[in-house]
Amino acid sequence: MTRLHFLVTAALALLLFQNPANAQKRYYKGNTHTHSLWSDGNDFPEMIVDYYHKNGYDFIALSDHDILAEGEKWMALDAIRKRQKGLGRGAVEKCEARFGKDWVKRETRNEMEGVILKTLEEFRGQFEEPGKFLIVKAEEISGRSKSGPVHINAINLESKIPSIKSKEMPTVDVMRQTLQAVAEQEKKIGRPVMTHLNHPNFQWAITAEDLAAVAEERFFEVYNGHPGINHLGSEEKERPGDQEIWDIANTIRIAEMQAEPLFGVATDDSHTYHGGDVSPGRGWVMVAADKLDGDSLVLAMRAGDFYASTGVTLKAIHYVPESKVVEIEIEPDGDAEFTSQLIGTKKGYDAAAEDGKTGIGEIFATAKGSVVRFEIPKDAYYARVTVTSSKAHPNPSYRGQKTQAWTQPVGWR
Ligand SMILES: [Zn+2]
Ligand SMILES: [Zn+2]
Repeated sequence: MTRLHFLVTAALALLLFQNPANAQKRYYKGNTHTHSLWSDGNDFPEMIVDYYHKNGYDFIALSDHDILAEGEKWMALDAIRKRQKGLGRGAVEKCEARFGKDWVKRETRNEMEGVILKTLEEFRGQFEEPGKFLIVKAEEISGRSKSGPVHINAINLESKIPSIKSKEMPTVDVMRQTLQAVAEQEKKIGRPVMTHLNHPNFQWAITAEDLAAVAEERFFEVYNGHPGINHLGSEEKERPGDQEIWDIANTIRIAEMQAEPLFGVATDDSHTYHGGDVSPGRGWVMVAADKLDGDSLVLAMRAGDFYASTGVTLKAIHYVPESKVVEIEIEPDGDAEFTSQLIGTKKGYDAAAEDGKTGIGEIFATAKGSVVRFEIPKDAYYARVTVTSSKAHPNPSYRGQKTQAWTQPVGWR
């Protein structure tokens, strides 16, 4: 395909399928999953926001377990020190070095030295700037079913949503009831609250079938930077990895339930900022929105106008529904070579195939280079593109990790 052909098709796609009001869209980089001292992270929230602010992010969602950064939280210095795993400078000292000696509120309680954590309202003014940097209110609603942890991030919410912790309840019920509570709050506050189901393979709690069944959930983590979440699955346990889970769940949804597919996000799920496995900067989303505010970001993501990344940047993604053509332009990255795969499921797939060749999540086509064009097979239920770079991830969460990007499924409407 010539460059001119690409531009003409791209312009046509823009002309036909984009509302002129959206002409000002640009990509905003953000991480929607982060922990601080407010729950089980090992740094002050303002230090964490400072990291993302300095490192080219446009937005960050602090998503502590079952808590929002509001009200009063006192913490013993000893408890903070324990989370540093004995390495590096102290969290308090680092925070004072960054924000000044008087910034950290020290208070001794019951003869224990401690500090009072800053609330979101107290520190957001240090960083936020219209159109440039945004902190989105979020919570990791950290429930539990009879199968294990059921963690759902709620982004752009207003007040805390209690988690459901049960040793008897099936996973799908915990998911449904949690999402119901989010939907109720959304109605009450009159703005969109997005949810993503986190790390399905963490403690092997959530199956692709669970994710398919709860069709009201529209997002899940196709990548999470925490090293303990079994991203690649397990052959021994016969459990698929996160990418395979995505295809199984979406095949069931589209082919058998006539439901909308899941979109995939990549996140850091960062807990550790000094000492141990330092994890911010591993995975993020790039959201094509017309404005940098919580509502615009959530609505753009619901429309599928975003991609997930662990280091590969896409300059443009174009999809023309009439011809079922997907075109992707990848930002060059030194001498990195890119391999793009068109992945999906065709009619006639066989989930029970004895040879394991189910046809679910089949690689339809592979292309090299920084501009790729794929035609989705006519009999495909959907297709999506994974771009894998030859470059190793600079801070991998699993052995052999390369940087990647994942586009959202198309061709299913
Ligand atoms: Zn979690
Ligand atoms: Zn988390």
